Amino acid sequence: MIEVTLLGTGSPIPDPDRAGPSTMVRAGGQTFLVDCGRGVLQRLAAAGSSASQLSALLLTHLHSDHIADLGDVIITRWVSTFTPDAPPLPIIGPPGTAEVVEATLKAFGHDIGYRIAHHDDLTAPPPVEVHEHTEGVVWDRDGVVIRVGPTDHRPVTPTIAFRVEHADASVVAAGDSVPCATLDALATGAGALIHTVIRKDIIETLPQQRIRDICDYHSSVQEAAATAARAGVGILILTHYVPAIAPGTEDQWRELAATEFDRQIEVGADLHRVEVHPGVCVKPAG
Ligand SMILES: [Zn+2]
Ligand SMILES: [Zn+2]
Repeated sequence: MIEVTLLGTGSPIPDPDRAGPSTMVRAGGQTFLVDCGRGVLQRLAAAGSSASQLSALLLTHLHSDHIADLGDVIITRWVSTFTPDAPPLPIIGPPGTAEVVEATLKAFGHDIGYRIAHHDDLTAPPPVEVHEHTEGVVWDRDGVVIRVGPTDHRPVTPTIAFRVEHADASVVAAGDSVPCATLDALATGAGALIHTVIRKDIIETLPQQRIRDICDYHSSVQEAAATAARAGVGILILTHYVPAIAPGTEDQWRELAATEFDRQIEVGADLHRVEVHPGVCVKPAG
């Protein structure tokens, strides 16, 4: 079984009830964080985990809403890991990730210096290990395999989706993308597809062109659902709701998705948890 917890279902627009984009995926005793938006560590604590328990951080792309709390993840993991010789935190993302991580460490350089000066057992900056990929297998440890494939969020490029597999269960985290053949291929036969969505029917009517601009590089609810249907996944998990779902209107979002996808659809608040069991897909991979 793979467990998916939506840690943050918000977007760049601050919302009192929704943290920034981030999802926890647990498989085979390993804990992965997909993106690390605003408030991620508070939600991670609420989900019963912590920065020091992360097996790896997976970044779909380098938009601010998806990496807003990268510094918090890196620094908090460093100061709250008490085992000597803690292994570096693997950070897997698209090209550009190493530069962002390096700049983040630089931004926190004063803090890192203070802590090294103050604590005898902290002798070096936070250990991190960055891997940049756009496709292929990026993780293969203790029965958990993760592969990535390119998505289409242009002009943001490159962007990637992750497929986590464990004991015949599989979950794909799409990140932000318009429908594309490479995402379809990565998601084929997956037990679940986690997809970010926007309500184009609402956004397109707003007066600010800058806000309407976002329609051309995101999937609508229906487009994400159509991707799930083409790929033959078992469960569609929607997140990154733009605009934030008004209380009591979850069913509208579910109904829009149901026009394209006739299987299990998950829409929820932060900390919504979904179990993905083996064998829930419709179309076998291959
Ligand atoms: Zn984005
Ligand atoms: Zn986004």
